[in-house]
Amino acid sequence: MAAGTPSGEPTVGSDTPRLRGKATPETLKTGCIAWVEKEGQPRRAEILSIKETKSGKQFYCNFDNFNKRLDEWVPVARIDFSQDVEWPNPEKEKLKESKSKKAPSAPKKAQVSKKAQKRPGKREQSVQSEATTPHPWTEFVELQGQRKSSSVGLDGDSQARASVEASATPAGADEMDVDDKEEDNKKEEGGFNREDEIEKLRTSGSMTQNPAEISRIRNISKVQFGRNDLFPWYFSPYPEAFGQEDVIFICEFCLSYYGDERAFTRHRKKCTLLHPPGNEIYRDDYVSFFEIDGRRQRTWCRNLCLLSKMFLDHKTLYYDVDPFLFYVMATRSDKGCHIVGYFSKEKESADGYNVACILTLPQYQRKGFGRLLIQFSYELSKIEGKLGSPEKPLSDLGLLSYRQYWSENILDVLLGYNERDDKVTIEGISTALAMTTQDVEHTLQAMKMQVYHKSDHKIVIPEKLIKQREKQKLKQKRVPLKACPNYAAYATYPHRPLSTGPLALPFQRPDPRCRTFHSDEIERVIKEVTSRMADPDLARLFENAFPSTTDTTVKFHTNGRDTAFVRMAGSRSSRDEGAWQGPHSFIITGDIIAEWLRDSTNQLRPYQALAKKDPAIFDLLLGAVNTQAEYVIESPYCNAFQPPPISDLPITSNGQDDVVHPVYEPSAVFECKYELDSLAHFLALANDFYEHSDSTAFLNDRWFLAVDTLLEVLEQQSQPTFDPETGRYRRNDYTFQRSTNTGTETLNLQGIGNPLNSGTGLVRSAFRPSDDATILGFFIPANAMMSVELGRTAKLLKAADHGPLAEKLMKWSEKLRTGVMEHGVVKHKKYGDVFAYEVDGYGSAIMMDDANYPSLLALPVMGFVDAKDPIYQNTRRMILDKLGNPYYLTGKDFKGIGGPHIGLRNAWPMSLLIQAQTSDSDDEIKECLNYVLKSARLGLVHESVDVNYLSQYTRSWFAWANGVFAVTILDLAKRKPHLIFKHGASPYEV
Ligand SMILES: [Zn+2]
Repeated sequence: MAAGTPSGEPTVGSDTPRLRGKATPETLKTGCIAWVEKEGQPRRAEILSIKETKSGKQFYCNFDNFNKRLDEWVPVARIDFSQDVEWPNPEKEKLKESKSKKAPSAPKKAQVSKKAQKRPGKREQSVQSEATTPHPWTEFVELQGQRKSSSVGLDGDSQARASVEASATPAGADEMDVDDKEEDNKKEEGGFNREDEIEKLRTSGSMTQNPAEISRIRNISKVQFGRNDLFPWYFSPYPEAFGQEDVIFICEFCLSYYGDERAFTRHRKKCTLLHPPGNEIYRDDYVSFFEIDGRRQRTWCRNLCLLSKMFLDHKTLYYDVDPFLFYVMATRSDKGCHIVGYFSKEKESADGYNVACILTLPQYQRKGFGRLLIQFSYELSKIEGKLGSPEKPLSDLGLLSYRQYWSENILDVLLGYNERDDKVTIEGISTALAMTTQDVEHTLQAMKMQVYHKSDHKIVIPEKLIKQREKQKLKQKRVPLKACPNYAAYATYPHRPLSTGPLALPFQRPDPRCRTFHSDEIERVIKEVTSRMADPDLARLFENAFPSTTDTTVKFHTNGRDTAFVRMAGSRSSRDEGAWQGPHSFIITGDIIAEWLRDSTNQLRPYQALAKKDPAIFDLLLGAVNTQAEYVIESPYCNAFQPPPISDLPITSNGQDDVVHPVYEPSAVFECKYELDSLAHFLALANDFYEHSDSTAFLNDRWFLAVDTLLEVLEQQSQPTFDPETGRYRRNDYTFQRSTNTGTETLNLQGIGNPLNSGTGLVRSAFRPSDDATILGFFIPANAMMSVELGRTAKLLKAADHGPLAEKLMKWSEKLRTGVMEHGVVKHKKYGDVFAYEVDGYGSAIMMDDANYPSLLALPVMGFVDAKDPIYQNTRRMILDKLGNPYYLTGKDFKGIGGPHIGLRNAWPMSLLIQAQTSDSDDEIKECLNYVLKSARLGLVHESVDVNYLSQYTRSWFAWANGVFAVTILDLAKRKPHLIFKHGASPYEV
């Protein structure tokens, strides 16, 4: 017999001697106990079920001393048939109903087992009398003495050994338990450790068990739920056919379930629900609570029960949801309200229960949410004027959370009494916390605080507990609930104080301790600019927007003075020599944890002018150049990258099924759309930095290697589709294909895109800065930008004595400029000579402009032409005309340039800001600023806005657009101060 488990849950098999003998894959049957490999070790396991699959027979195993949730299907290969198996005893069938019965030779265990028997085996109804259920604390106190026996080590290895020995000497096992118990008791005196408890639960038996055979087998292996993949722990009664699916799909809003991905995709297109279907009864910065009536939302609540059953072992509350209210906790984002956890509660509880079932979904566990759910249930009881207690039995994790909640809160109340020198009563504590007196008393006993002294009951708080509580409080400050809210959610609703103008714009900067980067110089500029501004609303928008990148998107930064990095994964080549050394900065776009080369350069642009004044900004920008250089070396064709390997930040997937050549490493690359402007932005970041700081600190081997890599791409991507000599088709070095129903998300002709002619001097770009595919690969704005940035880099290289490379870059720069002027300028019937958006060298041209930078509208901002240039002026008239640019959108609320990325109703505020930057007309500039201001009701600049409904916008956290707004204001402060500053203010320069 194996070493016992704390709850008295039977380990595999029983004490009754069994027939032993050799088995084969064919003769092995349900109920047998065999040796099965788990985590590299042989483990004793009971076969609970057998199934035939395409790859052969599979056996569902419950392992000795492992929590049920670690049960799994194993193939034949993992079973050791050289060892005897134990055959199920015929009379064993009866025993199975109460498997915990032990042979009389094990008295200690038998005692515990009785307790286990007392607990209800199967709960069809949620109502359960307290009398038949042991109090969780009583159970816990006993457990304290038992636990050592089940879990010797954290990794479970020593456990496995214990179980091997024990099975060889069945009699000795229980004696060992007794010995350990005494010793352990001493150790555990005065408190418990939640971390250890959970770890022990993981490896040991469940405290609450449902012994019904069918529900012993986990039927669903994987669930796709919103952005998360969930791996269920327990059986849940989804339709039987779902058990055969590798993955099932659950809509995170209506909770409908699908075994078929296509059916699920169809559903997602139709499903309009964005939050749980009841009333939102509570909201703070972090979470919302919804109250849902089981009778009114029967289907939804049943679906919730099915979902939660996968993570709750003991509950079977899914037939009749009518008598219950469901309280669902959710976090908010611009995608909707995402379920974090819930508890259910009987509308009328005869036993005074205030919680029936309680669960935090696995992806949110151990973050402090469970505590909040419990707290909420007691707050409801307080409002009702009742004392409450959770219904028993509780789930494993529920039990732990409650114990901790009770002891912490009682301790806090007692410490309060102590400070006030008040007399304390059990009833007083009970009323203060809406806890039953029984729960209070049990908790006091468990914490050994109740003493009987000179015929008087007293409560003594051990010094140790006070210290422990202080420590806990410090630790809890670090959990996300009490620390920093997720800014993606924070940005979706307004925070006070509001600005004093007619728009009353909210203050959207995160709390100072939650900001991702601090600079005194940035704070100074905010003060100097906003104090001069005439419109308090515009000032508020600047106050929020200017620090948006430093406040929220510097996800990782090191000044590099203490890192000695060795590449962890992959092969180390000569290209990796010196990688990731010195300062590095990882700048995310906003709501996606990845760095876009283009976005990050533009996000940092407003701070470039501070590089000389603030060493912190200097390091931040230098780090950003270094990080981008590593990205370009890693995958020059890619546009968005994963966190630096030195950052310890997690890698995310973009969820797409892309086929890309050259192949890339997904742990380094987030997305691999080849955009010529991304590479131009890599140069621009360093050029801007050099221009403002006069520093060439980024001129190291890595940066030069990145520039060489960039030049290789220019060479490869200036190759035409057909060989100019032979006329033969040549496959392009870069191809991209995505499974999608959106035309702009993939490239036609097997991932190559439309043919391009030879002899243009232009370089192909597969995608636009909007991340949409180009229609014709010679994308003019990126060619223009690349020409400008190569020229700027050439200049700084020349100044730094790198003549030959400077010359090479200058040649490329001139070649591109000539190409743009020769092939990118076309004669338009209405507007005259204009720049085309895209051309192919055969004479075809796409006449439009997109809001994203670089654009035709931005040509003067990029430094390619002067704003007064006649071709540019013709172009500008065309692209700001509804009849000249298909993506110039107007409506009753808003107007501006949009693009195919979001659709034909949404214009982008960014285009209005570029329009202001390229205009000399006071009226035009004022009009642009007013539109942007009006659309920024949440105090930040959105990505795009529906031209007819300002409330329909995309992205509430989009640092790039806010960076462009800040640059626009700083440009006007210098160029046209009278438009934004109070009367008589002089030009302001950072
Ligand atoms: Zn749905």
